[in-house]
Amino acid sequence: MNLVRKKDKRGQFERTLLIYEREALHQVFSNDRKYAEADLRIANQLLDEMDRKELWVECDCIEPEEGQEKPFNCEVKGKKRATLMHVHTSGHHDEKCPLYRLIREREGNNPTTEAKISPLIPVGGDDWLPEKKKAAKVNPAEVIPRTSRSRRKQIKPVPALGRKLLTLIQAAGLNHLELYPACSTKGLTAAIAAINEVLSTNTMRNGTYLSELFTCSPWLNKNDIDQMLKKLESGSDLNTSNKELCIYIIGLAKIVTKEEIVFKINGKLFTHRPEARVSINGENSHNAGCREPYWAILEYRRGQNGMVYCHAGYAHAAESLDNTVPVDSIKEKETLNVIIKACDFVCRQKNPPVAISLIKPLFSMKSVKDGVEDFIHPDFILNVVPAGDGKIASFIIETMGYDLAEYVERKGRTHEVMRREGCLLTDPPGWPEASEKSFNSYLLSHIFKAIK
Ligand SMILES: [Zn+2]
Repeated sequence: MNLVRKKDKRGQFERTLLIYEREALHQVFSNDRKYAEADLRIANQLLDEMDRKELWVECDCIEPEEGQEKPFNCEVKGKKRATLMHVHTSGHHDEKCPLYRLIREREGNNPTTEAKISPLIPVGGDDWLPEKKKAAKVNPAEVIPRTSRSRRKQIKPVPALGRKLLTLIQAAGLNHLELYPACSTKGLTAAIAAINEVLSTNTMRNGTYLSELFTCSPWLNKNDIDQMLKKLESGSDLNTSNKELCIYIIGLAKIVTKEEIVFKINGKLFTHRPEARVSINGENSHNAGCREPYWAILEYRRGQNGMVYCHAGYAHAAESLDNTVPVDSIKEKETLNVIIKACDFVCRQKNPPVAISLIKPLFSMKSVKDGVEDFIHPDFILNVVPAGDGKIASFIIETMGYDLAEYVERKGRTHEVMRREGCLLTDPPGWPEASEKSFNSYLLSHIFKAIK
């Protein structure tokens, strides 16, 4: 995503936005997302720069045809605050782009109607329902060769079912934490409420509410699910010739193994056993289930025999039931807790920063330099907004798991890319060298330097 000139000459490159700036624009201006105070500060700073230098934001969600423009967004001054608007004469955003549906300044006394008709497009799929498989028969002519392997390699392998869960978690703002001025860790109840809000205010492309397919009620039995499926099946607006109708159950599970996902609600256990087993993010059979609790999603389908069955499951560890941010490892939970405590300490001192926010990226991010794209997937991004007009600091924080040579080499390359997007901090500090310093004191010294 770039800043480009509005005229003289229209579209001329000014500079590339850093990842934390792009994230803030997505959070603040996308209809799907929620933002923290730090995001708003970052976005306002960008709007100010656009205003002063007469710039537009050029989005990179599409690859335009020869001679056409990428989507441009301009700043418009609203009654309450400035916002972004798509320049209609420029290219159109991709439907999956967070800026595809920009927040408009809401007028009148009916503020919710706008959100109700907007489809939420999941990352990595054309729609929320999977393609129907042809009856089990192999036709070698139909095997599609895999392309762009090198690109695929860098993206964390999350199955389509997992991407649905992560898309909802992101839309519900559960991978973002405001650490100051308000501390916004979301516990189980608030997290489920936020997901339910997304489900009841967003639709698929054809207008079906997500709440007709997804439920946060893990206590539903096969009979209840059968009823939900029947309702979907009787709806005439779904193209059932090529889409598999499914019901999804989402929740925070207590126990996860390769065979089952168990929810504990008011002391009662509710077990789901997917026939195609459970895929657990970053875990193999030797350590499956060691990071509870888990964000979990289960897919129910109707079988050839007409009976409802649990088809597949996916689980992704959460920090805890009091702080439901998704995490990739136990080590990452520790890093996250050090970050939260350190920020709390900083904010209780004299002259605290104006705002601090934390992002746990759930999808890979693009970093562009000299026209070359690299994909990175930082563990955490911490944005610190100092008081006054000091520069906003963006820390990219990486939890280092191993010191195997191959891992050190691979990380060395991605760390180089991360360093151009912000100040890279590793836990432990100085990795792969040994360090005397604790991550806590290392992080604190950097935050204090940023707000001085
Ligand atoms: Zn776009």
